[in-house]
Amino acid sequence: MTISSHKEKIWLSPPHMSGAEMKYIQQAFDSNWIAPMGPNVKAFEEELCAYTGMDYAVALNSGTAAIHLALIALGVQQGDEVICSSFTFSATANPIAYLGATPVFVESEASTWNISPDFLEAAIKDRLQKGRKVKAIIAVHLYGNTARLHEIISIAERYSIPLIEDAAESLGSRYKGKMTGTFGRIGIYSFNGNKIITTSGGGALVTADKNIADQVLFLAMQARDKAPHYQHSQIGYNYRMSNVLSGIGQGQLKVIEERIEARRNVFVRYRKALSDISSISFAPEEIAEGSYNRWLTCILIKDKNNNVSPDDLRKALEEENIESRPLWKPMHTQPVFKDAPYYGDHLSEKLFASGLCLPSGSAMTEEQLERVVDVIRKEFRD
Ligand SMILES: *Cc1c(COP(=O)(O)O)cnc(C)c1O
Repeated sequence: MTISSHKEKIWLSPPHMSGAEMKYIQQAFDSNWIAPMGPNVKAFEEELCAYTGMDYAVALNSGTAAIHLALIALGVQQGDEVICSSFTFSATANPIAYLGATPVFVESEASTWNISPDFLEAAIKDRLQKGRKVKAIIAVHLYGNTARLHEIISIAERYSIPLIEDAAESLGSRYKGKMTGTFGRIGIYSFNGNKIITTSGGGALVTADKNIADQVLFLAMQARDKAPHYQHSQIGYNYRMSNVLSGIGQGQLKVIEERIEARRNVFVRYRKALSDISSISFAPEEIAEGSYNRWLTCILIKDKNNNVSPDDLRKALEEENIESRPLWKPMHTQPVFKDAPYYGDHLSEKLFASGLCLPSGSAMTEEQLERVVDVIRKEFRD
């Protein structure tokens, strides 16, 4: 056993409870609302609407479920195509495959790490020219960086293709002062354990379209027709968030702004502490329209002498019981999507090869941050 294994673990992005969660969970227990549905669910949805400024929210058991139901609500079927950011987590693209549709992957741009408006339009034109049915666009706000929504929406409108915003990582990030996730026809959030706020596992779909919200709610609860017996004219899903977990969400939502502030601080502190290491650069600067939640602080390593690779650094951190993680491996390079069309210049492959996500939890102490910084500085010492 090495000495470092005695050191306290520093996680990449651990849950950070506010204390207010227990009140809602206790209420659920006291009133015996342990059954899936109950008052916390509606309350959480209303609070999410108030926070995001969106008209309707449906609380679900994961962000992945939210994307799945979003695609169904937009009529995506077997044989259709859905345009999707390539530089993302697989959960963005998997629901396209659940429906027997084909993902068409589009590369990111360097300034935001999100879908390139130029490649997006090129992809749409080419698919339409080939006679394909492009039924939806999924644009991701990766690591809390905002995509170029103005450009993306004008393209989506020009071709009459609905936009889904995958805001799983960007709850609380703003574009022109408005919440990400509220620009597209549908937005989705995730409350998975490592996200900026968590319900241990969960997600939500938001929309300004009442028909979509109603349909998604119906599908998420097994698609029961109005009848005293169980009657079904459509295939349903068991995707609803439970009453107990919604209570955690209510407690978490109360402190979201503090959590964002803390993550933004982590980013600033890392950047300051590592500013003199010329081989390290930081995730894109905020674009003028954006205010980022800085869910994870990402660095890019360009070591002139090639002495230190991101994986060397990851291992050095691991030795000290510190969790870090490579950037997302682009979807167009994943074995499972190897046959999917791709439009771009392979930028995300370079980002993947040179990047690393650093521990970025909102409860990170000064001392923990220093431990991470010390390991990095040691690696880059000549
Ligand atoms: C986490 C995440 C999801 C999926 O959310 P789950 O709640 O884990 O299902 C989707 N897209 C992105 C970009 C994510 O980071």
